[in-house]
Amino acid sequence: MNRVSFGLRDDDEKLIINVKPNLIFDKEHLKLNYKRMHYLRNKEKYKQYNDKYMKQHKDYFKEYFKEYAKSWKEKNPDYFKQYRVQSVVCECGCELQRRNLAKHKTSKKHIDKFL
Ligand SMILES: [Zn+2]
Repeated sequence: MNRVSFGLRDDDEKLIINVKPNLIFDKEHLKLNYKRMHYLRNKEKYKQYNDKYMKQHKDYFKEYFKEYAKSWKEKNPDYFKQYRVQSVVCECGCELQRRNLAKHKTSKKHIDKFL
């Protein structure tokens, strides 16, 4: 391993396991790996910062994802309807719509096939 160009430190032995080994000699990926090493070295710091940030802006994120989900549903009104009427094949070999699957699994027809 070329330690000099990769800029490894002595205490990075443990971190190397987390870097994909096939990327280490690839010049194009050295920078990416370096970024990852930097992240792994300062993981705790980033985590603390992230937690603090998320806590501070908790309400904002809540609203944001709520709005996002709402707008997505408006853009794709038929998605959930279509999902429910998709035809699926049960593990007992029975073909039926997805909306009936949960009920079918408790039915006599389904249970009898595994007895
Ligand atoms: Zn079944």
